[in-house]
Amino acid sequence: MRDFHKPIVDAIEDMNDSFIMLDSKWRYIYVNRNAEKLLKHKKEKLIGKNILAFPILRRSLFYSKAKEAVKTKKPISFENYSKLLSKWMEVRLYPLSDILSCYFTDISPRKRAEFRQEFISKINSTIALSLDYNKALRNAAKVINNYLADYCRIVILDENNQIKETIINHNNPKKIPLVEKLYKDVSESKYGLEQLLTKGKPEITSIIDDKFFEKYSEKPELVKIIKQLDPKSYMGVPLIAKGRIVGAITLSSTKPNREYSEDDLALVGGVASRLALALENMRLFEKVQQERERLEFGQSAGKIGTFEWNIENNKSTWTLAFSALFGNPPEANEGTIEKWLDMVHPDDKEMVKKEGEEAIKSGNRLNIKFRIIWPDKTMRYLSVKARIFRNRDNQPMRMVGVAIDITHRKKIENELRFLAEASKVLSSSLNYKATLNSVAKLAVPDMADWCAVDMFEKNGKTVRVTTAHNTPPGLAKVVKTARPKLYPIANQELLYSAMIVPIVHGKKAIGAITFANTKESKRVFNQDDLSIAEKIADRAALVIENTLLYQKSQQATKMREAFISIASHELKTPITSLKVYTQVLRQQAEKQGDENLSHYLFKMDQQVEKLNKLIKDLLDASRMQLGKLSFRKSYFDLDELVKEVVGAIQLTTNHIIIIKGKIGKVYGDKDRIGQVIINLLINAIKYSPEANKVIVNLMNQDDKAVVNIKDYGVGIDKENQQKIFERFYQVNGASNGINSGLGIGLYISTEIVKRHGGNIWVESAKGKGSTFSFAIPSRTN
Ligand code: ADP
Repeated sequence: MRDFHKPIVDAIEDMNDSFIMLDSKWRYIYVNRNAEKLLKHKKEKLIGKNILAFPILRRSLFYSKAKEAVKTKKPISFENYSKLLSKWMEVRLYPLSDILSCYFTDISPRKRAEFRQEFISKINSTIALSLDYNKALRNAAKVINNYLADYCRIVILDENNQIKETIINHNNPKKIPLVEKLYKDVSESKYGLEQLLTKGKPEITSIIDDKFFEKYSEKPELVKIIKQLDPKSYMGVPLIAKGRIVGAITLSSTKPNREYSEDDLALVGGVASRLALALENMRLFEKVQQERERLEFGQSAGKIGTFEWNIENNKSTWTLAFSALFGNPPEANEGTIEKWLDMVHPDDKEMVKKEGEEAIKSGNRLNIKFRIIWPDKTMRYLSVKARIFRNRDNQPMRMVGVAIDITHRKKIENELRFLAEASKVLSSSLNYKATLNSVAKLAVPDMADWCAVDMFEKNGKTVRVTTAHNTPPGLAKVVKTARPKLYPIANQELLYSAMIVPIVHGKKAIGAITFANTKESKRVFNQDDLSIAEKIADRAALVIENTLLYQKSQQATKMREAFISIASHELKTPITSLKVYTQVLRQQAEKQGDENLSHYLFKMDQQVEKLNKLIKDLLDASRMQLGKLSFRKSYFDLDELVKEVVGAIQLTTNHIIIIKGKIGKVYGDKDRIGQVIINLLINAIKYSPEANKVIVNLMNQDDKAVVNIKDYGVGIDKENQQKIFERFYQVNGASNGINSGLGIGLYISTEIVKRHGGNIWVESAKGKGSTFSFAIPSRTN
């Protein structure tokens, strides 16, 4: 032992570092107090001894570095973690002739701080590097294992506080399944994890001993797994973001010398709060992302695309959805606007250009609808709404707009229009064949490229109502089942897509409508089209039903008219005979001077005449219905005719009939016009029982001959003034106390006047009498 100056020795003894001196033979020649502690031996024991007496040093970094320093005669310093001491040491070696001075400084606190720093920055970069939630957590677990643990897990809760994700890492990958097994047991969460997730308080078990397993006593399987994993130390921290527990981290060390301290817990706590915050941000980001995706999705689902056109440099940008609207593969998202203009339907191009130019020139907004042709040649409808932004000089700078696919809407509009038109057409005619033909024509091209209507006849034959085409293959089945058939893609040479709908009457298909699209248009029918087609078929069925009913009623009418015609004709002969016999009898009675008998026979003759007129009217009315009323027209003097008729009627009534005015010659059927005047005069007398005169007024008005017949009778209220000209119409039926006829007199009169190109009308007020008039052209070529 060399002699040292006392002050120096004192300083060495007092210093915080451990200090030793070795001679050239690696023997201790000096050991200070701290070195005693470090080496855990008293200096008396050490001085003079070779350091290699501690075999552990032979292979140590210290020994190799010391040799190097001696050899190079240059000081060396290094840092080393001493497993033996569980401490980080900084070692400085100073070779001085044959002496080696060694200083040992405990740098564990500094190292710990650095470690913390490194750990935190690693975690930070892990979090920062990735926006992928799951990936970030997996990397974080790796970092935790690198720095602090042998196995760990990160548990993430969802918004309902249910475990959403569990990330597991083990430094020995072979043991990961074992850890998974451990955490698969949900009941495990009753312990450590549950504490963390519900209480949100960190926990630590620095040394795992038998006591630790005691709380798992009722879970022997779990204990088995844990023992297989062999943790020596455990800690867990909750992940808390914005006051909410969003998950937890648990770490275990399997190394006996790696016991977790409160410091470690604080460190992990710090990491956990960073992680929680990052997770929260990621969650928010994910939400925003999802929203954006949803928006994108919504755009493509709602078929809305946006574009921006820089008018100044003619550069455009657009969204994927926008390009999808044009049937383009979603690739470029910028270029020129011309690319899109090229795809506008040739018929709409001019309009689109014009509207666009006008908007740029003077407007603020553009709102157009047009057709486009997709690369696959199919046609779509687009609606584009855009705004034009101008600079201070009012120069157009940008156009920003949205485009919406309105094909479906247009289709529905077209279909509704078609349906409305079809209904109109179908209800306008009772000729169903003609009607169906027009429906078929209406369907093309709005609804289909080709349409055919087939009717099935009783003998099993189908009759094509419309222009013939190939009989579609599914027709037979539709006939049999009376159910519609849709062929979205018929895959035929001629037909691209087709549907056949039955026209059902009762429960049977009485016909079918076939709609087809050709290869050129590539239009494909779907369920919507089918339901429209079915509606059309339903309407067609209704029309056919109406037609059939009408035909039936037509037939019934015809039969009735025929009956009346025959009956009245057959009645006419005996009545004529009856009239002749009555007159003969009356003449005889007058000759014999039997006034009484003569009077009754006169009355009888009047009744026979009435009967005769009734039968004649009936016959006329039925002839009119059948369109068989014949006219024999010629020039005749209307004034003469009126005189004749009035003379005859005057004989049968007490009313005085006064004729006023003159007309002259007219062209027409004298007998029929006479019939009209008789009808009007008889009515005038009949419906004015309290009055005593009827005035007949004759005049020419413009180029018309007008006859008025004015009575002072019961009159007709406004409400009935039109109806009385209808067949069989009588005011209040026949219950007005006046013995009415059949209600066909005015109907026949009207028909006769009409057939002369004239008209008939009434002016009347209830209780104030009526004036019936008719006018016929007075000069007819
Ligand atoms: P009817 O055989 O019942 O007279 P018409 O066709 O001649 O049949 O007349 C139809 C109805 O018009 C009559 O039932 C009556 O109610 C009304 N009517 C016709 N002429 C007159 C009139 N001059 N005054 C009042 N009502 C009349």
